[in-house]
Amino acid sequence: MLDVERIRNDFPILSRTVHGKPLAYLDNAATSHKPRAVIQALSEYYETYNSNVHRGVHSLSMEATDRYEEAREKVARFINAGAPESIIWTRNATESINLVARSWGESNISEGDEIVLTRLEHHSNLVPWQRVAAKKGAVLKFLDLTEDGRLDLDGADSVINTKTKLLAVTHVSNALGTVVPVKELAGMARSVGAAVLVDGAQSVPHQPVDVEELDCDFLAISGHKMMGPTGIGALYARRDVLEQMEPFLYGGEMVLEVSYEGASWNDLPMRFEAGTPNIAGAIGLGAAVDYLAGLGMENVREHEKQLTAYALDGLRGLEEIDLFGPWDVDSRGGILSFYSSDVHPHDLGTFLDQEGVAIRTGHHCAMPLMGALGVPATARASLYVYNTEQEVDTLVDALKRALRYFGDGASAAR
Ligand code: PMP
Repeated sequence: MLDVERIRNDFPILSRTVHGKPLAYLDNAATSHKPRAVIQALSEYYETYNSNVHRGVHSLSMEATDRYEEAREKVARFINAGAPESIIWTRNATESINLVARSWGESNISEGDEIVLTRLEHHSNLVPWQRVAAKKGAVLKFLDLTEDGRLDLDGADSVINTKTKLLAVTHVSNALGTVVPVKELAGMARSVGAAVLVDGAQSVPHQPVDVEELDCDFLAISGHKMMGPTGIGALYARRDVLEQMEPFLYGGEMVLEVSYEGASWNDLPMRFEAGTPNIAGAIGLGAAVDYLAGLGMENVREHEKQLTAYALDGLRGLEEIDLFGPWDVDSRGGILSFYSSDVHPHDLGTFLDQEGVAIRTGHHCAMPLMGALGVPATARASLYVYNTEQEVDTLVDALKRALRYFGDGASAAR
């Protein structure tokens, strides 16, 4: 069992108030807070060894290079990637997916090929594939959902067929919390020779993720959702696949030899890292990985499962809301998305903010999914390892008051 009060002490921001109330931060799917160790790693870099990486022969540059490359090794170990060369630094999960779409997709996907996604995808794992499909004459196919927001595996083996070139799926839905059975789907994709990309933006921060076990070719990682700084993400890609891929961006660092007429490419991973990278960000993400590994990802997942069960119980009592996604906590992450026809989610979010409760409202970058659910938007509370039952109580109490307030207003207006 994790000592959550001790964990909370590591996050300076959690002790602040909002509108005079203690902050209950339940917007972790949008971005997570950073422990002191991450903040210190950033300031230590700028205060004591700020320097550019790889190019320098002086001590500061070598120190920066060592720390930057150590961070890559930490991320590789965290997801069982084997070689650190399989980790490419990017700005965020979105850029990781775009890198694959441009460098792998445009060379490996041809007319008539099929790309299989789920109906849950975040725009980041939908729009890049729409662009590849439009450019190459390929077709997008979607794995459907059951009534309660699980993946409908019944039809999956016909959607994934010999025309499938790529399966690109989210691991955990940011909009509904659904945990997608990636391993099972990857097995189907493998049996027809398709490549597999996993959008790990909402899974890597919250549960153990092992790329060997998932048997994926690509995993997109978001640094800022896993206690790291903003502006840093990573792409895991199988080394032999990366070796075959065309660079994504061209310029300094990614080249070996350059003449006025042409250039040759550097070794992995630098081949995919043109220009000065986010050095501080990568080192900060390394510190975040140390912190999470110290907690133990099994423990993080267990805490969130218990808290999700507690939140589901609390929200179940509110008749005015429809709660989306699976009800059993083994099939969902700590994301609770709901809608009430009495009140627009934005009004709900504004009301809760007055109570110190931070949630997200909107389409969560999953507009087609909102359409499929028949709602314009949802209110979404999303949990992390530092959240407590008390914060969930604050959410449920504030929600009750909000629903009463808007419900009465709505009926008075009718
Ligand atoms: N995929 C999913 C499932 C997400 O939740 C998000 C962030 N909301 C992204 C991709 C994009 O992540 P990033 O902000 O790192 O680009």
